[in-house]
Amino acid sequence: MSRHTLIIGQGLAGSVLAWQASWRGDHVTVLDAGFPGSASSVAAGLMMPLSGQRLVRRSDYEQLRDAAESCYRRIEQETGQRLFRSLTIERRFTSTAEREEWEQRSSKEPAADDCLLQPNRGRFGALQMHGGQLNIPLLLQVTRERLSMSGRFQQRQIDAAEVQVEAGRVRIANSELEAERLFFCEGHRGRGNCWFPGQPDQPVRGELLRVRLNPQLPVDVVVGGVWAAPVPGAGAGAVPGAGAEDTTEYLIGATWDREQLVEGLVTEAGRAELLQGLAALLGDELHAEVLGQTSGIRAGTRQRQVLVRIHATHPQLGMLNGLGSWGALTAPSAAAAVLELQEDCLRRSAEAAQSQPPQAPRRSLTQLAHSIARRVYRVGDRVFDATAGNGHDTRFLAALAGPSAVTAIDIQPQAISATRSRLGAVADAVMLLVGDHAAELERQAAAYGSDPTNQPPYGVVMFNLGYLPGSDRSVITQADTTSRAIRAGLRLLRPGGVLTAIVYRGHPGGAVEYGAVEQLARELADIRVDVLPGDSADAASPVLFVFRSLLRG
Ligand code: SAH
Repeated sequence: MSRHTLIIGQGLAGSVLAWQASWRGDHVTVLDAGFPGSASSVAAGLMMPLSGQRLVRRSDYEQLRDAAESCYRRIEQETGQRLFRSLTIERRFTSTAEREEWEQRSSKEPAADDCLLQPNRGRFGALQMHGGQLNIPLLLQVTRERLSMSGRFQQRQIDAAEVQVEAGRVRIANSELEAERLFFCEGHRGRGNCWFPGQPDQPVRGELLRVRLNPQLPVDVVVGGVWAAPVPGAGAGAVPGAGAEDTTEYLIGATWDREQLVEGLVTEAGRAELLQGLAALLGDELHAEVLGQTSGIRAGTRQRQVLVRIHATHPQLGMLNGLGSWGALTAPSAAAAVLELQEDCLRRSAEAAQSQPPQAPRRSLTQLAHSIARRVYRVGDRVFDATAGNGHDTRFLAALAGPSAVTAIDIQPQAISATRSRLGAVADAVMLLVGDHAAELERQAAAYGSDPTNQPPYGVVMFNLGYLPGSDRSVITQADTTSRAIRAGLRLLRPGGVLTAIVYRGHPGGAVEYGAVEQLARELADIRVDVLPGDSADAASPVLFVFRSLLRG
């Protein structure tokens, strides 16, 4: 059974996400309005280790690059098209100060071995490095073609307000389209999205020139102020600088304009700025003939962070956006991240639907209680599950101590049958009781107390309070019996043994029970109590109480 995924917007983000979701086995449908002048359709697709004015190396560059390359190579294999090529990039210093600053910095940090200082290039020297170029327009084209073959691409403008959510599904109003999950990859237009409002918050319009340079550049790409890069795919997939004499068309970019955010707008000022920048970069080495001018609006963010988002209350909705200027490098990792994050959120909310909220702390507190029990358990200990419920803790204890060392009790017969079926083959070896844990533990404590030569039997006693997940919520543990049961359980704990109790505060009656356990914890002598809230920022989150009987002898 394959999941259906909808993607709104087929720029670089939407395309990469579509491939990755399909590799995970999803049926993917992409809807794109076909707006001209998207950032992706005009981008140069460059990838390089040092970027920005300060020539800072991203600490995660290798990771991002490897993820990006393997993603693009896989698309190449599946489509037979050449999308990605390695390039040599020369970053020219734009002033002596810039070069000195770099030299100072790189004397402190170990210089990256893929950046080579070339003192005699340009006016102030240069750094030569390995980079890459993704042919984004071709990627968009092959992705669209692949989807269209199976009717999974629609040219269609979707407003986020037309997206309707219902339990576990999404639907596009007035259409047949529905899916289990949906991602918005709308680029700068995502700002008006009603599900994820206000992001990306810093769109920037960039203009580019298409030029013919004569002679062609000494290396594939030259950067410094502006950049000059081969037109993606120019020379029929040739690798410039590696013997492709016919590659003389370049893109020059890019301007930054946050004011006039008009798609496709090109200006005289933009053209002049780029030509001046080119002259400063290459000096009199080259003659540039302008062939064309384009512009696109990048989906920038103030934090300069890729937007990987899952909707807080509707986890079937996600967003991948804000790739900004380095999309070719970051898109594959970000796409993988948003898919994983979403799957994680969906899993949690499915679990939460079957049990009591909030689920995430509940799960981790259970695990915490288990790992504490594991550390305390010693061979020969008996162990006790005071709230068998669906049998998760009982099964854990049976695996830890062996089934014959386990006693589990629950007041509801159906809980004991659920526990029995969870235990499977070992169920008969476990002592399973239907009854009240307070009465049972008090009975045992009295029997134990009557003979001073008795050793307290239990190494681990576990309580998981509240109601039985997936069943009648009116049967809940009660403050009074819980306190009595914990007191009696502690008397049955061997020195060094532990009693854990996960207490829920979110359901009706939960707060009262919590108050009682907290009160009890304050009153106890000879017992150390650790109180571990599932989420310290959330007063309704569950709390794990860990009672340890202090070592005596
Ligand atoms: N540990 C269980 C969840 C327990 S839910 C699991 O992992 O699945 C709490 C359970 O306590 C419910 O099954 C409820 O029936 C039981 N319970 C409530 N009051 C009780 C009492 N006085 N004595 C014993 N069990 C009780």
